[in-house]
Amino acid sequence: MTPDKPRLRMAPSPTGSPHIGNIRTAVFDYLYARHTGGTFVLRIEDTDRNRFVEGSLEEMMRALRWMGMQWDEGPEVGGPFGPYFQSQRLDFYHKYVRRLIDSGRAYYCYCTKERLEEMRKVQEAAKLPPGYDRRCRDLDEQSRNQCAQENPKPVIRFAMNTQGVTELEDAVRGHVSFRNDLQDDFVIIKADGYPTYHFASVVDDHLMKITHVVRGDEWLSSAPKHMQIYEAFGWQPPVWVHPSLILDETGKKLSKRSEAQTRFLSYIEDGYLPDAMLNFLATMGWSAGEDRKLYSREELIEKFSLEGITNHPAIFDLAKLNDLQGEYVRMLTVGQLADMILPRLQQAGFISEPPSAQELDYLHKVTGLIQDRLVLLKEAPEMVSFFYSDEIEYDEKGAKKHLAKDTTPAILKAVSIKLASLEEWSLANIEAALRGVADALGVKAADIIHPTRMAVTGRTWGPGLFELIEVVGQSRVVARIDCCAEKYGH
Ligand code: GLU
Repeated sequence: MTPDKPRLRMAPSPTGSPHIGNIRTAVFDYLYARHTGGTFVLRIEDTDRNRFVEGSLEEMMRALRWMGMQWDEGPEVGGPFGPYFQSQRLDFYHKYVRRLIDSGRAYYCYCTKERLEEMRKVQEAAKLPPGYDRRCRDLDEQSRNQCAQENPKPVIRFAMNTQGVTELEDAVRGHVSFRNDLQDDFVIIKADGYPTYHFASVVDDHLMKITHVVRGDEWLSSAPKHMQIYEAFGWQPPVWVHPSLILDETGKKLSKRSEAQTRFLSYIEDGYLPDAMLNFLATMGWSAGEDRKLYSREELIEKFSLEGITNHPAIFDLAKLNDLQGEYVRMLTVGQLADMILPRLQQAGFISEPPSAQELDYLHKVTGLIQDRLVLLKEAPEMVSFFYSDEIEYDEKGAKKHLAKDTTPAILKAVSIKLASLEEWSLANIEAALRGVADALGVKAADIIHPTRMAVTGRTWGPGLFELIEVVGQSRVVARIDCCAEKYGH
């Protein structure tokens, strides 16, 4: 029986750190489940013991939770269709494979590795398509018994229909058809008794009442295998959804080769915001049919549809991600942003743990000054370092340009004296003081502003000079300018 509401699953194999492609698929699952009031299931496909990577499940769960995509059923939360780890579901696979053997749709294959290797070589030499030659498919009982003695650990293969075509409707690709004579009798239970992906995922999708299977485009070629298993059991297949693959900016497949770009956790470490990431991944291969880039989580849930998934490759456009990220950073309140960068500044040693009220107050002022330039949270410590450390390192080029003139020491001295004399440390007074020095010395404001910025921050760029001078504070600013004047005084 089909459930009333869609049920979607994310089915990762714990074989490595989650990558962008995995999470983009999960975004589609999650948005469609939330859009329809359906269910988002997390199922762990851990039947390949050789490829198991310690910690990868935890990383996957961390990534999903960080994205605000809590699964409704699965590890840690349970649910009515558990267990949600395939390694704990072997009894189900054995029960169902028996049915296939009884109905003649699966068979034991005793062929040794050596024989299969030999077969492959012959096929290669004859330029034939690779695949099992079905030697064990129609063994009579006597030969089977004999083979079983030679190889007591057979695998179980699925007996594919070899005539005609296997057809399916894909929500993204439309009608797709595969020739059956090109299909292989693939293994469904391995010699160690574990199922392969093809078999376990079909059995579980059926038992867990999954209605929509969203998965990477690379699985489309496996769909005829899955369709035939559904047919063999007389089960209703799910709606297939194979979004296009993701390409990098140069048009190459975004693959493991560019691991720095695909490892999802590095985006968390770099300080992207979950909502910016959600917006970015949702619109990478899906569109609401309008010219718009910013969508809140609620809007994505409201607008998401399978029809909007595009059937041409999605491009991973880092510049677009950074642009979105900047927009999301600017939408935060100063308080929210300050909370987000606080741990990074503590790690840099700028703020104590726990922070004092005074440190928090200062942090808020500093945050207010960098909010319109900050993109990645990881850039914050470097961006604010001069607010915290009085040991200013002068940017070499900037120093050459703005501090190395003969007039520099005199200008800096005049600025320092003027700022030191201010009775009230306010933005207006600071600005008036600097402009006053320019007038008194008969130079342009820029001739005062650039060396002063260099002296106070060591850089040629940053927040507004008067504002940052106000926040750093009178005595520290005066000391920095004096120190700089000294350094460049001869
Ligand atoms: N375990 C498969 C993977 O990690 C899942 C594919 C699917 O969603 O069916 O790629």
